[in-house]
Amino acid sequence: MNTLSSPKIVRMIAALTDHRDVNLLEASLLKTVADLCTPDWAMIFHVGEDDMPDCSTSLRDGVISQTDCAEPFAELFSTEGVTSFPIMSHAHKVLGYLLVHRTPRLSPEQQSMLSDLFRVYDNYLAVLRDSQIDRLTGLLNRHTFDEQLDRALGLIRRAYRDNAGAENKRKVGEGNGSFFMGEIDIDHFKSVNDRFGHLHGDEVLVILARILQSTFRKTDLIYRFGGEEFVVIVYVDDRGDAEMTFERLRRSIENHAFPRVGQVTISIGITEIRDTSIPVELLGHADQALYYAKTHGRNQVSFYEALVASNEILPTQGATSSSMNAK
Ligand code: GH3
Ligand code: MG
Ligand code: MG
Repeated sequence: MNTLSSPKIVRMIAALTDHRDVNLLEASLLKTVADLCTPDWAMIFHVGEDDMPDCSTSLRDGVISQTDCAEPFAELFSTEGVTSFPIMSHAHKVLGYLLVHRTPRLSPEQQSMLSDLFRVYDNYLAVLRDSQIDRLTGLLNRHTFDEQLDRALGLIRRAYRDNAGAENKRKVGEGNGSFFMGEIDIDHFKSVNDRFGHLHGDEVLVILARILQSTFRKTDLIYRFGGEEFVVIVYVDDRGDAEMTFERLRRSIENHAFPRVGQVTISIGITEIRDTSIPVELLGHADQALYYAKTHGRNQVSFYEALVASNEILPTQGATSSSMNAK
């Protein structure tokens, strides 16, 4: 076993909690595992809703890489020299595994040391996940949107530009489509609260979040942006597809019988995410399209690029925040 000084071990544990990004955290854990027990390889993989592996971070020959899961995972588990550590959720559901391969196999002391290290990782991950989630709806929160948008745009830019960028593209979407951002705002929500009370208002938000989750793909990003406002980033074939997806959402909400409250409608502003997009401009465009929907009867989907092309609105730069005050 490596003999490491106490200060070095403390430094390694501190480094493990340096990042607020789950992917960086995984890379950091693998690096620490490498320092502690020099494995042949180590890997973290996550299981999806169907209990199949859906992405992994691995360390081989000192190189950390992230992939979608093409690996034969069942075989990896039974490979001679592999020790596995489950990653559990608070509800005791298995979210994934850390696999460590070492020749000779990890000793009981090393296994116990890695188990302890893994507890630090697991506890920090739980706190991190908790801070990214909106408590009422369980969706990603605004803070996370702000943190992730720049990174997502970086990935999107590379996916659009990189000729050999199939790898990046697979991580954020599939095929040769485009990314779109939709800003969703519940119509006359103040009056829902006024007529039925805040608890029923809250219930509408929770149900709407469930409908959002069932409408979009697991790989799409859904955020509760503010009180009764949501933002979704989707990856679809083209503009027509984006419009159809958000229109389907609008209709699902319109046709849903909310307990006590009955019918609720939403307005949606969509804009295309380009390789040149910057956050403030993107939000400004979605916001402008939403404002148009709000001032043209609500309960409808407006497309920024289409409105500009048909001279319904003038192109803008930067966020306006005006839709939120539309009456
Ligand atoms: P518009 O169609 O123009 O969007 O009208 P609106 O009434 O939805 O918009 P307005 O901005 O006037 O009101 C938003 C309301 O959302 C006011 C606020 O009380 C309510 N709201 C914000 N967050 C929450 C929440 O967490 N729970 C509940 N129940 N209501 C919330
Ligand atoms: Mg509203
Ligand atoms: Mg609003």
